[in-house]
Amino acid sequence: MDSQTKVCQNCHQRFWIESEDFDFYKKIDVPMPTWCPECRNLRRMMWREERTLYKNTCGLCGKQIITIHAPGTPFTVYCRECWWSDKWDPMDYGREYDFSQPFFIQYRKLLEVVPRPAFTGTNLVESDYSHACQNLKNCYYVFWSYFSENSQFDYGLLFSKDTYDSYVVDNSDHVYSSLHSNRLYRTQFGYFSDECLDSALLFNCVGCSNCFGCVNLRKQKYCIFNQKFSKDEYAKEIATWDLGSYKKLEEARQKFREFYFSLPRRYAHILNSQNVTGDIIRDTKNCKTCFSALDNVEDCKYIYFGGLNLKDSYDVSGGGINSQLLYEIYAMTGNVERCFFSAGGNDSIDTMYCDWARNSSDSFGCVSVQNKKYCILNRQYTKEEYEALLKTIRKHMDDMPYVDKKGRVYKFGEFFPPEFSAYAYNESAAFPWYSRTKEEILEEGWQWRDEAERNYKVTLRQENIPDHIKDVSDSILNEIIECRHSTSLWQTEHKACLDGCTKAFRLTREELAFHREMNIALPRLCPNCRTAEILSWRNGFHLYKRKCQCNQLKTKDQKLITYANTAEHFHGNGPCPNEFETTFSPESKEIVYCDECYKPEFL
Ligand SMILES: [Zn+2]
Ligand SMILES: [Zn+2]
Ligand SMILES: [Zn+2]
Ligand SMILES: [Zn+2]
Repeated sequence: MDSQTKVCQNCHQRFWIESEDFDFYKKIDVPMPTWCPECRNLRRMMWREERTLYKNTCGLCGKQIITIHAPGTPFTVYCRECWWSDKWDPMDYGREYDFSQPFFIQYRKLLEVVPRPAFTGTNLVESDYSHACQNLKNCYYVFWSYFSENSQFDYGLLFSKDTYDSYVVDNSDHVYSSLHSNRLYRTQFGYFSDECLDSALLFNCVGCSNCFGCVNLRKQKYCIFNQKFSKDEYAKEIATWDLGSYKKLEEARQKFREFYFSLPRRYAHILNSQNVTGDIIRDTKNCKTCFSALDNVEDCKYIYFGGLNLKDSYDVSGGGINSQLLYEIYAMTGNVERCFFSAGGNDSIDTMYCDWARNSSDSFGCVSVQNKKYCILNRQYTKEEYEALLKTIRKHMDDMPYVDKKGRVYKFGEFFPPEFSAYAYNESAAFPWYSRTKEEILEEGWQWRDEAERNYKVTLRQENIPDHIKDVSDSILNEIIECRHSTSLWQTEHKACLDGCTKAFRLTREELAFHREMNIALPRLCPNCRTAEILSWRNGFHLYKRKCQCNQLKTKDQKLITYANTAEHFHGNGPCPNEFETTFSPESKEIVYCDECYKPEFL
């Protein structure tokens, strides 16, 4: 079939269903989507918590707990021990399908009563404040991380140690404030950099050591802002960049940012992959519009954080590990096959509309079921009953759809409505990527959670934090430190912070020791604002069709492109004719090159 244009039910923009898409939807027997790819991702992300933690009470043992679930919500929350125990059975909450009301309304009611875990995750040693993690030791405030230790305030760590304030960092040790990097050692502010050591402020550097403020370097030593020094000169020069001083650190970061903008960058981070579009892609083939697709992803489309042998899937926000034929999934991993419209779970086959289903098959509309087959709304059926009822339910969902406040129609084939999620927008994974105000979210009919009254007062103002880490005494551990984004100075220069600023923060003992050991000035931002700052080094999930900017005289805003090539290019002195899809909008400040133009300059 030829491609077809549709109008998104949510944003009312046009989107395209291409001929290969029809084949996929037919293969898995689902109707065509009615939301555009990005709105579908947004909707899924609203079904997963991000990192807002609350004090709450376990609904079974009554113990005080820290959890991703706010107190006062209608959900039943159990502490980790109770949730994993055999003291309760999700099937006790099972109910008959009710043909007098829409499926999604019934599903939300079930969701409210089936106990939810305070945190998910397994094999955590001394890591109480970690959520959605496996095999951690001595970690604090770490999320979606695996096999890591002695680390704090991170997201997406894998096999890393002593790593702080970082986002998706693998196989690293003694790393601070880094993003999408692999095999870093004693490195600070490393972005998209691999195999670097004893360095700071790196963008897209590989195999470098003793480098500072460098962009696009390969296998270099003793470079400062891409300028090569001898070992002795480097030692002298680097001594003038003492990052233990906050003032110096800010100066270095500012200079680094400007330097980054002055050099061309590749249109996307794509490594060792064939026939792919998107960003942050490695060892992948035949994938379109994918973002963070790593390690043998094949024949997929619209993947947002997927990897490790994920095959033949569409619309996956978090998923992979030997899985295939997934569609409209948030966070399902590990031998999952033919699972659609579901959030969380593992080792399952042929499930739809499930939340945290584990090791189950042939189930529909179930919450937290484990080792089950032929279940609907947590109720057991025989194979024959299940198959017959499933057919009737699919028809019922089309005949009696759920219609939301804005008239968006939810028939069979839609992911869950955001208003039925266990998390409000500003607690959800959507929030850091699609920043919206409370008013905008409420207008959509979605959920927003107002911050609870805080019963503490700031005891340390920004201006009273010692400039140099060496001048900080242990007493700072007792202070409640003001976040820079909540100072009136910052707020008059910028508009209000939309990053979920918690206005104040505390330092942990381990964090202070780490900053001293690494000689890095203390953070001036709360953890949420720190995350937003680090994410400003990568783009979101929208692709623009653009031309290579090599030898183009002017950018869209009529500013001259100031970079002069240093090597010969295949297109001679004229402009490069190559086009690509990139996450950089025409308005962005970066100079964006195609592969063929980037390589002679930097590789
Ligand atoms: Zn849309
Ligand atoms: Zn803040
Ligand atoms: Zn080019
Ligand atoms: Zn060129």
